[in-house]
Amino acid sequence: MQALLVINAGSSSLKFAMFEAPLAENAPSIFRGQIDGIGAATKFVAKDIDGKVLVDTVITSPEGADFEAQQQLALDTLLNWIEAQNVQLVAVGHRVLHGGERFTAPTLITPEIMSFLTSLIPLGPLHQPHNLRPIRALAKKYPNLPQVACFDTAFHRTQPELAQIYAVPRKITAEGVRRYGFHGQSYDYVSRQLTRVLGDKAGNGAVVIAHLGNGASMAALRDTKCVATSMGFTAAEGLMMGTRTGSIDPGVLLYMMETHGYGAKELSNFIYKESGLLGVSGISQDMRTLEASDAPEAKQAVDLFCYRVARQLGDLMIAAGGLDALVFTGGIGENSDLVRSRVVEYISWMGAKLNPELNKQRGKAQTIHAADSKVAVAVIPTNEEWMIASHTVKLLGVA
Ligand code: ADP
Repeated sequence: MQALLVINAGSSSLKFAMFEAPLAENAPSIFRGQIDGIGAATKFVAKDIDGKVLVDTVITSPEGADFEAQQQLALDTLLNWIEAQNVQLVAVGHRVLHGGERFTAPTLITPEIMSFLTSLIPLGPLHQPHNLRPIRALAKKYPNLPQVACFDTAFHRTQPELAQIYAVPRKITAEGVRRYGFHGQSYDYVSRQLTRVLGDKAGNGAVVIAHLGNGASMAALRDTKCVATSMGFTAAEGLMMGTRTGSIDPGVLLYMMETHGYGAKELSNFIYKESGLLGVSGISQDMRTLEASDAPEAKQAVDLFCYRVARQLGDLMIAAGGLDALVFTGGIGENSDLVRSRVVEYISWMGAKLNPELNKQRGKAQTIHAADSKVAVAVIPTNEEWMIASHTVKLLGVA
């Protein structure tokens, strides 16, 4: 069987999905899995199309192996496993954080492009190096295998200049300190479903998509193109997230430096790992756990999350020039009827109203608003891996 491999390599994990070639519309992955805990106790899990576990094993690195060696070993383990499945890889698509100001679309990876993407590491030091390493490793092992980079930032390159710049000195903007935006694969996928789910008028109108997962962001679209988004220079801006602060008064960071003696490392942990739902609840970063908890701190964390989504919606409505439709996606957006109903309640003053029965349903792309709602509201499950596979196929003309 011929197959496309999709890789999403992060700082301590590597997620993969394989799709049969030729790629059918919305085809499920034939295999998917994850290597977790790279750098500590590395675990490799792979499942088949029905979710049956095919592998669940620990990868033991040699004594003293550094992170890079461990990531290489993890990737070799995956590639050896793929070879044993009797599939022939025809192309690989990678999720890559940053395409800078240059890339508005996915691209075939060449040595020149690899060096350009490497030069962007200062813009995304927590992700970009991890995204690029498997590309190099694959190129070494299979020099003729085409590889495609799909950028988290590309979807947002249509934002007008005012949405992209910060109020900082020009020379800092010129260095690339701009608002890029992320979660591009998800927005790209959802934006392609808008007219089918919402109809031509609302789908091409002023739409705000809320991608609410562990990482969370929102984007305003017109004519299915991005005009503004909540994340900026990094994936820390905007909404409160599982463990991230989202937008915060920079004065708080100065306070932590001056009063708590925080340096860059402590600040990074504060912004990315200790805050958000976890920080406010003191219990968990997981929305499901918090919704099930009776603790007042858990309730407040959920309250704040919904409030922040609604406030951000207000901001993005201005950028979109109105609100024809609000679309939920991501783990929370697709599954939490509570979060959806709370957010929509905040815009009830403008005539938005849910159909409670439709709001309770799961897993389907559909509208969930009441018949007399003045704003369309929909759930569209995202499919980032399929989107990457689809771009890879289109770009290469393979399969
Ligand atoms: P990531 O950003 O890591 O891809 P996901 O999009 O998978 O994250 O979203 C994970 C979040 O979705 C978690 O907070 C999880 O609790 C939440 N979630 C998943 N299912 C439900 C559910 N049924 N109700 C509420 N929240 C849910």
